[in-house]
Amino acid sequence: MTVSTDQQTVPSYAGAQAPAADQATGLLIIGASQSGVQLAISLRALGFDDHITLLGDEDHRPYQRPALSKEYLQGKVGSESLIFRTNEYWIDHNITLIKNERIDDIQRDQQHPGAGIAYGRSGATYPYRRLALTVGASPRRLEVAGGNLPGVVYLRNADDAIELKALVPEAKDVVVVGGGFIGLEAASSLHELGKNVTVLEHGPKLIGRAVGEQTSQYFLNQHRHRGLDIRLEAQIDEILADDNGDVKAVRLTNGEEVAAQIVLIGIGVVPNTQLADILGLEINNGIVVNAHALASDGNTIVAGDVANMPNPVPGSPTNERIRMESVNNAIEHAKVAAYSLMGRSEEYAGIPWFWSNQADIKLQIAGLSTGFDQTVVRDDTNRGKFSVLYYRDGQIIAADCANAPLDFMAVKQALGKGKNIDPEAAAEVSTMLKTLIA
Ligand SMILES: Cc1cc2nc3c(=O)[nH]c(=O)nc-3n(C[C@H](O)[C@H](O)[C@H](O)COP(=O)(O)OP(=O)(O)OC[C@H]3O[C@@H](n4cnc5c(N)ncnc54)[C@H](O)[C@@H]3O)c2cc1C
Repeated sequence: MTVSTDQQTVPSYAGAQAPAADQATGLLIIGASQSGVQLAISLRALGFDDHITLLGDEDHRPYQRPALSKEYLQGKVGSESLIFRTNEYWIDHNITLIKNERIDDIQRDQQHPGAGIAYGRSGATYPYRRLALTVGASPRRLEVAGGNLPGVVYLRNADDAIELKALVPEAKDVVVVGGGFIGLEAASSLHELGKNVTVLEHGPKLIGRAVGEQTSQYFLNQHRHRGLDIRLEAQIDEILADDNGDVKAVRLTNGEEVAAQIVLIGIGVVPNTQLADILGLEINNGIVVNAHALASDGNTIVAGDVANMPNPVPGSPTNERIRMESVNNAIEHAKVAAYSLMGRSEEYAGIPWFWSNQADIKLQIAGLSTGFDQTVVRDDTNRGKFSVLYYRDGQIIAADCANAPLDFMAVKQALGKGKNIDPEAAAEVSTMLKTLIA
């Protein structure tokens, strides 16, 4: 809840008592979402006994994002079920949770390495002895005429989802710009709610950044079959308004107009590096960190979507770096960050995994397919299952598994143990992959 005074809007508090204004918190975590929450929880589990302040700019108790494009949008779950922890948890664990406060500036303490003061938009200051940036990413904006019309929305946080949901009852037609995970999840949800949904993807394939050709094609076929109108290589010229100034259509460069009372933009995210820039940290597609979640100053902790880290997959090419956008990464990276703050030297190493639910298709991805030179397709669509296994130099490195949880678990297990799955034998769909782990 926001508290307004005559002078300013001050942030709302939950959890433990905040330290007095002139007293530093032991650890200031900026960004109260998946990785920030996990960092605070892991630190307490590891015995970190200094005061923690978990601060975020959203006016909600920290919540999980994945349902925003799925069950929450579909009306299957309410907002309460998305909340990570009760207020009592934060009180009991001596963690001050500050909502609705944006940090715009930070000054380092020149005498004490790692310490400093963060300046909140409310006018409050937050002195700290150590700092963690778990500031995530923001939606990439679509720079096009009409891009700011009422009815043009994005989907990154709870306020976005509330805005979108409020528009749904009055809308008949929806255009989703972007055929990535968020776009396709939201498109499927809106289609299930009875809307005519058109997906405009400017590239030649769906989910182009994350999956290979065969998985892309599978999703294209499946979504078209279920009734989504998907246009590839679609170039947007302008978003058009009706007489009231609300969005009414999207005009493509070929002159075609696609009717829409809602235009949802899902064209990727940009890491939030502004504070890292102020601190003089190295930035390169995110904030550059080492395997211990430490930024280039050797003091600032960074975890989650905003971090550009050494590839954590064991055996991956040295010096290969990666920035991941997933719940699994936000959690595992925050755990490593917690070890780092405890002075322990655990490196971030593990097999990344990811899921995306689109209509009745549950996609699970194990590993990273970057650099693959061979694929094996296990097409069992008669039974609703479809998997693609990725290999590099004959060694399995990843798999995309649609409605095929056993394939996913087998590949994840093989990768975790550094084992292989013979590609020729894997091509036989009736063979259980777990019997091939060698
Ligand atoms: C709609 C949606 C669906 C998703 N579905 C899936 C899924 O199915 N599977 C999956 O694995 N992943 C999914 N994800 C991705 C996943 O939610 C993210 O990878 C994860 O939330 C990243 O966590 P994070 O803590 O690093 O960053 P974020 O969740 O982005 O949190 C960062 C927080 O920091 C705050 N912040 C930023 N700057 C400041 C500042 N200066 N001052 C104060 N606060 C600040 C932000 O407002 C935000 O609350 C989904 C994401 C979205 C948006």
